[in-house]
Order: sequence, then C-alpha cells, then structure tokens
Amino acid sequence: MSIYLMLLGAPGAGKGTQAKRLMEALSVPHISSGNIFRENIKKQTELGKLAQEFISDGQLVPDDVTIAMIVTRLEQDDCADGAVLDGFPRTPTQAEALDTILADLGGKLDAVLYIKVAQETLVRRLSGRWMCRAAGHVFHDEFNPPLVPGVCDYDGSELYQRDDDRVETVAERIQVYFKQTAPLINYYRQRGLLVEVDGDQSIEAVTDALMTVLPEGTAQ
Ligand code: ADP
Ligand code: ADP
Repeated sequence: MSIYLMLLGAPGAGKGTQAKRLMEALSVPHISSGNIFRENIKKQTELGKLAQEFISDGQLVPDDVTIAMIVTRLEQDDCADGAVLDGFPRTPTQAEALDTILADLGGKLDAVLYIKVAQETLVRRLSGRWMCRAAGHVFHDEFNPPLVPGVCDYDGSELYQRDDDRVETVAERIQVYFKQTAPLINYYRQRGLLVEVDGDQSIEAVTDALMTVLPEGTAQ
C-alpha cells in the first residue's frame, strides 16, 4: 500500500523541517519543489534558469513548468510506495494535476497536513533560517541552532541564508501564499483530506501532533 502525504502551510510554517522528520518515520522520500528548483539553479540547468527570476522575486514558478518537474520526480522508482510532498501543490491547477499524477501511479493523496502558524511568527522564522547546501536540512539561529555555527549537523555541509529570505522578498512570498495557495485549505477541507496542526509549538511538539493525525496504518 502506498502513502502520499502533502504538507501545506505558509513560507516559514515548518514544512521542510517536519517533512524531513516524517520521511524518517515513514520511510518514504521527501519531495520539496523548492529544493528541486534550488538544485537546478545551482547547476544552471534550463529549468533552473527559467525558475530563477520568479524565485528571487518571491513569485511562483509557472504551473506548467512546476507540474512537469514534479511528474518527472514522482515517476522515479523511489516514489512508488509514497512520498511526503512539501511545497507542491501551491495553486488549484497544481492540486488538480497532482490527482492525475498520483492516479497514474496507482495511488492517491491520503492526507493534507496543514501546519497553521500566526503570521507574525513567519517573518521571525524566515529571517533566522539557515539551510544546508547538500540536502536542504534547515536550522534557525535562535529556535533550532546547529551544533557548530555554519555547519549542517547531518551531513557537515555549509549552511547558507537563502536569497529569497530577505525581508522584502519574504513579505511578497507571504502575500503570494495568501492569494494563490491559501485557497487550497478549503479545497482540501471540503474533500475531507485536511488535517490541521498548531505550528506555533516546538518542533518536537509539532511532529508529535502530526504523528497523531496521520491516517491510520501510516506510521511504521
Ligand atoms: P517552510 O518549509 O514551511 O518554509 P522550514 O521548515 O524551513 O519552513 O522552517 C522555517 C524556519 O523556522 C527554519 O529556520 C526552521 O529551523 C524554523 N522552525 C521550523 N519549525 C519550527 C518550530 N516549530 N519552532 C521554531 N522554529 C521552527
Ligand atoms: P518555503 O519553504 O519558504 O515555503 P520553498 O522552498 O518551498 O519555500 O519555495 C521557494 C520558492 O520556489 C517559492 O517562493 C517559489 O518561487 C518556488 N516554488 C516552490 N514550489 C513551487 C510550486 N509548487 N509552484 C510554484 N513555485 C514554487
């Protein structure tokens, strides 16, 4: 049986942090659209060159490009038994595309885990965020500091602050979230797939809350 989960929440809600923890608990890959775009930008692939400007302006990458990228990723063998999706879908068009993609894989979206966080928390989280170059592990200089400043605890790679975590771009990204992505909350609630957890708690408490709301039989 496959298990496909999606994490929904504003930039800074804790999706990436929790996705890494769920991935370990459930033994399925963590698929982060943002991380895939950043890898492509680093390598300067065609996709990376196309996405770069949208990302640094705090805008969404167009749906057709994003959907094609996710199809390619989800078709890889390691996703056959499931995945934790982080940052995709972000628009109603992407949400519809996801249903088709998962049906083609013989699966379905099992639950949407909505991490709800007060708006004032988001800016504090994003302005202190540090990300690892190798695998997108996330830290925070105040709330989740690495053991050695500037070095990833998990793989020893360098930590950096994302260009789009600058204050001006963060404000734009939060607006984009409320306009283009937040409508998915009701969309999935109406379909009975949405489960909500309070993201304004410690990282461990949010993970515990997520583990208790996962569909039955999911956690190993
Ligand atoms: P998202 O993927 O939703 O943008 P991240 O997982 O990257 O969010 O988290 C944003 C920042 O907030 C990171 O620096 C992370 O270490 C920190 N963070 C995540 N969850 C919490 C939490 N529950 N409490 C405090 N800080 C958190
Ligand atoms: P965050 O963790 O702060 O929510 P992400 O790393 O998920 O941010 O995404 C970074 C940027 O990559 C977004 O601001 C957007 O420009 C682009 N992006 C990521 N996922 C998508 C998507 N599903 N659709 C369109 N653009 C996306």
